[in-house]
Amino acid sequence: MMNCHLIEQAKAGQLTADAIQEAVERVESVVESNTFDVDIVKCRTCGQTFVYGFKQYTSPDWEDDYWTFWIPIGEQEVATIREAKSHLELMGEMVHERPHICWHPDGHVFWAKQGLPVAFIVFMS
Ligand SMILES: [Zn+2]
Repeated sequence: MMNCHLIEQAKAGQLTADAIQEAVERVESVVESNTFDVDIVKCRTCGQTFVYGFKQYTSPDWEDDYWTFWIPIGEQEVATIREAKSHLELMGEMVHERPHICWHPDGHVFWAKQGLPVAFIVFMS
């Protein structure tokens, strides 16, 4: 796990949003709405599983920001994610604590090595 070229490219600052969207395939849709999506996706090359999370976040000054995350997970975690009571809460915790690929609203795609505590509010507001 975690040897995926997408992760390596994100660490090197060489991953684009288009490239990762083409490089993974959706295995399962867990949550689907206009403002919040959770999917299970896999790297087409190595089979690494990720939780894909999309959230539209409206800031206090009514700006709409679009956040996207790909969190590497183990196959055995899929059932836990599927069965979560609150997917907003689960995704908030995961982006807070777990290393992941983040597509920030500013367009930048990067590896959040220790999670991204600032992104917690995106799911909790
Ligand atoms: Zn891969």
